[in-house]
Amino acid sequence: MEKKQFQAESKRLLDLMINSIYSQKEVFLRELISNSSDAIDKIYYQTLTDDSLTFNRADYFIKVTTNQEARTLTITDTGIGMTKEELEENLGTIAKSGSLAFKDETEMEEDFDIIGQFGVGFYAAFMVADTVTVRSKAFGEEAAYEWKSEGADGYTITETEKTDVGTEITLTIKEDTEDEVYGEFLEEHRLQEIIKKYSDFIRYPIKMDLTKSEPKEDNEEEFVEYVEEETINSMVPIWRKNQSELTDEDYINFYKEKNYGFDEPLKHIHTSVDGNVRYHAILYIPSTMPFDYYSTEYEKGLELYSSGVLIMDKAPELLPDYFSFVKGMVDSDDLSLNISREMLQHDRQLKMIERNITRRIKTTLQGMLKNDRETYIQFYDTFGRQLKYGVYSDFGQHKETLQDLLMFYSSTEKALVSLAEYVERMPEEQKYIFYATGESNERIEKLPQTEMVADKGYEILYFTEDVDEFAIRMLMSYQEKEFRNVSDGDLGLETEEEKEQAEKEAEEHKELFDKMKEVLAGKVQDVKASTRLRSHPVYFSTEGEISIEMEKVMQQMPDGQGMKAQKVLEINVDHDVFTALKSAFEADEEKLALYTNLLYHQAMLIEGLPIEDPVDFSNDICKVMI
Ligand code: ADP
Repeated sequence: MEKKQFQAESKRLLDLMINSIYSQKEVFLRELISNSSDAIDKIYYQTLTDDSLTFNRADYFIKVTTNQEARTLTITDTGIGMTKEELEENLGTIAKSGSLAFKDETEMEEDFDIIGQFGVGFYAAFMVADTVTVRSKAFGEEAAYEWKSEGADGYTITETEKTDVGTEITLTIKEDTEDEVYGEFLEEHRLQEIIKKYSDFIRYPIKMDLTKSEPKEDNEEEFVEYVEEETINSMVPIWRKNQSELTDEDYINFYKEKNYGFDEPLKHIHTSVDGNVRYHAILYIPSTMPFDYYSTEYEKGLELYSSGVLIMDKAPELLPDYFSFVKGMVDSDDLSLNISREMLQHDRQLKMIERNITRRIKTTLQGMLKNDRETYIQFYDTFGRQLKYGVYSDFGQHKETLQDLLMFYSSTEKALVSLAEYVERMPEEQKYIFYATGESNERIEKLPQTEMVADKGYEILYFTEDVDEFAIRMLMSYQEKEFRNVSDGDLGLETEEEKEQAEKEAEEHKELFDKMKEVLAGKVQDVKASTRLRSHPVYFSTEGEISIEMEKVMQQMPDGQGMKAQKVLEINVDHDVFTALKSAFEADEEKLALYTNLLYHQAMLIEGLPIEDPVDFSNDICKVMI
């Protein structure tokens, strides 16, 4: 018989499974049962939406049987089954190859917690079995097929006899070794325990033939053994259970069972609403960012159930974009089973659910910020950027919702702080919420323009992400306090005295500054004496709407090329450099041009802006040296 090869990624995963030293091998059963449950969901859904089909609730079940002599464990389901092509496609290749490729070889060697990380599904069977045989008959098909593999060297597919629609997976359990007792997966009690632990809330019965014994009628000393079929799981879906009955572990198991993520969730929200609209929801905030989160492949959304029947894997209508990282499910009795994607968008009930859920996520996060800051910061480090995009997007529509969740690094606290905390600390005379932008906290710390604000003892928020300033501009103010970039020309900080002094200096050095402006024509808006600089010789302040940081971001966008900040070159007239400028102005026009260009380029460098002509700049520096 022709043996087919696994696709390369699958083979790699399979090798890992076969040689796995993963300690929780028992989860293989969870993975197989969960596949069976999904397959039953699919056929159940068909029968509910197609009137020509009649099925009985009793027709849906999963059965787990063992054969000690043959060392086999079989999981049978009455699900939708797989065609020959589906067997090939689903079991010969892995859909999640992307996630696997994302881990490199060395990491894989060391890190065998691959299930914990990626939830590998079907292949987990190879952790405990030498041979895996899948016999399946697909709904609506005449023929049934058998897929069989003894591990990484390939698999065969042949036609087989099977009367009932559904799938039957038989594992030939590995022989026991010194370290591992694989035989436990053939024991009734152990299997019962595993099913209870991971699959209790599966909505379909998981049945087992249990060996029972009772005393003989005529002789109570002796027992007779008999076999009885029993349903092992309680079948109450976790979301319909009382929160008080559930442990954190239950929620984590559900998260994993559902493959919502490969991490441990940071927080779960379980809510049952019984008002204008009725629904149950379990929502999770993941602890790590899905690897494809910022790619176009990522789809937001929650699983949507109607009266306990899964009708959609990912309903994007249930989550706003700014909470797109949230995972989970919603089950509502108020939704029609036949609802189509198009109808979902206009469904009033669904809109209400979305609004409620959004509010609930927000209050949960707010509560976390208040009561469990450490966890909140972990969350914010991962998904804070998304919240900032949320403030900026849709013309600021969601800023009210999100502003209290924002955090920025503070110059005085040396840690992330919320806007409320900042405002609370503001001295009475402080007019604005100050912020400074730059590539990193370290770089911002060294910016000349932060000096004066910091000197006055004011707290400054450091903006290091592209989106920060855009979001804040959209916000404009917080608790009626406006935001101000410390590079802004007008900070409202100068005293009357300082202002007078500046005017005097402007008058006094007018000719010099005019000359410098001439040299820098087209590059800067103005050249003037700074009231702000203490130790640094030079920097840019800006006038108008666009800051230098925004210029940088916009330069990278296809249609933002022409957008430039209006820069003002501010000179520290108390600095020795200014003396040099003055004497150049009096004696040597060429030298003044040289110095002016140098200072201009220094200001560019300080701001992290690209120098238009680095060769020219380099030559200028040489001129100073020789
Ligand atoms: P996942 O379940 O995460 O998609 P798996 O490797 O566990 O990944 O399964 C791959 C695919 O094989 C499933 O998506 C499903 O289409 C199919 N499959 C697995 N088990 C069954 C089953 N018992 N009945 C029908 N289809 C199944």
